[in-house]
Amino acid sequence: MVSLKQLVKNPLKVFGAGTKAGKGFRPEVFDSHVMTTYGRFPLALTRGAGCRVWDDQGHEYLDFVAGIATCTLGHAHPIMVEAVTQQIQKLHHVSNLYYIPEQGALAQWLTEHSCADRVFFCNSGAEANEGAIKLARKYGHTELGIDEPVVITAKASFHGRTLATITATGQPKYQKSFSPLVPGFHYVPFNDGDALEGAIASLNASGPRVAAILLEALQGEGGVNPGNVEYFQRVRQLCDQHKILLILDEVQVGVGRTGKVWGYENLGIEPDVITVAKGLGGGVPIGAMMCKSSCDVLGPGEHASTYGGNPFVCGVALAVCQTLESENLMANASARGQQLRQGLLKLVDAYPELFEQARGWGLINGLVLNGDAPLTSLDIVKAAMNEGLLLVPAGPNVVRFVPPLIVSAADVDEALKKLSKAVKILS
Ligand SMILES: *Cc1c(COP(=O)(O)O)cnc(C)c1O
Repeated sequence: MVSLKQLVKNPLKVFGAGTKAGKGFRPEVFDSHVMTTYGRFPLALTRGAGCRVWDDQGHEYLDFVAGIATCTLGHAHPIMVEAVTQQIQKLHHVSNLYYIPEQGALAQWLTEHSCADRVFFCNSGAEANEGAIKLARKYGHTELGIDEPVVITAKASFHGRTLATITATGQPKYQKSFSPLVPGFHYVPFNDGDALEGAIASLNASGPRVAAILLEALQGEGGVNPGNVEYFQRVRQLCDQHKILLILDEVQVGVGRTGKVWGYENLGIEPDVITVAKGLGGGVPIGAMMCKSSCDVLGPGEHASTYGGNPFVCGVALAVCQTLESENLMANASARGQQLRQGLLKLVDAYPELFEQARGWGLINGLVLNGDAPLTSLDIVKAAMNEGLLLVPAGPNVVRFVPPLIVSAADVDEALKKLSKAVKILS
């Protein structure tokens, strides 16, 4: 097994990555066959190693997107290569009609490393949130005697692209064109305890209606906006007082990214339900909904997924989770995150007309544009790409940095240099 040190020192050699680029890619053929649901950059990535990826022309990029906070161990990590290879040779898919030992082992890891007691496996973040919404509704019916349970969510949140999760998402831009939305949701401003208390009071005025509150510990897509400790303490207390479930959407921040296993560990509270996906599989599609035994209300036949928790994804996800611990990647996320934020803050100081602040936890960080800046986050992302650095916007005013958790101090320095150069050219 290759050590993290070797990996960071010489990813190309360690991974044995070749130099041949996948030439011959034709974007016009792609565009005439794939739906236009994504605004794509004119870039075809064909190979990766560590924190670097290469396009079909052989150009190298430092990858601070990581499949949007997904490639926890970077690209072609030897542990992932081995886990994928071993599992596909052994058994890759069977139905949940049977016991799947790898699923049990991953559930055990997740419950031993969180406040949750039980896990349901699915394939994505949206699907994990769908499961949590179903669990909340059943809890509302059976435990609180509510006919039409309401789930409160936050403005500027993001919970996925299915019908229920775009409804849960407190951003009209994701909802327009898709009415009628799903009933049973109510929105409050994020980090505002009074607003939440008021909403519960008015919704519950003539008997209980609120079954759950669904929040991100740190709003990712909505602008890398961390939850506030006092706010979350108050949310927890209001939930206890009214027997409301607190569901935390940890799809973007869970599994080590914030320097702790879970985002909620930064807030000093425990949720009743946790949803997770992105970083869990390191890039293989897996999601999970976890809950405390006190609200484990779904029974046989009430929820299911054909692919959910199959041996392949669970075997790989377990290897990712074990590597988080064995390679001390949470400590790396904290240290490299601090280094990155310090660099970003220098940039904020150097260009006050462009930037307002830099914020985040561990290795999820946002560079926030000044309200009067003549640029958008997309302009910065494009300029950085020209310098060989991949970044992703989090809304029009925030540039997001979510590199693999194996990122080295040298990678962070290099990213900051490339970004400074890009900003200099733009300004
Ligand atoms: C990405 C994301 C989702 C949706 O996950 P998918 O796997 O794309 O369905 C949900 N919630 C949060 C917080 C996310 O960042």
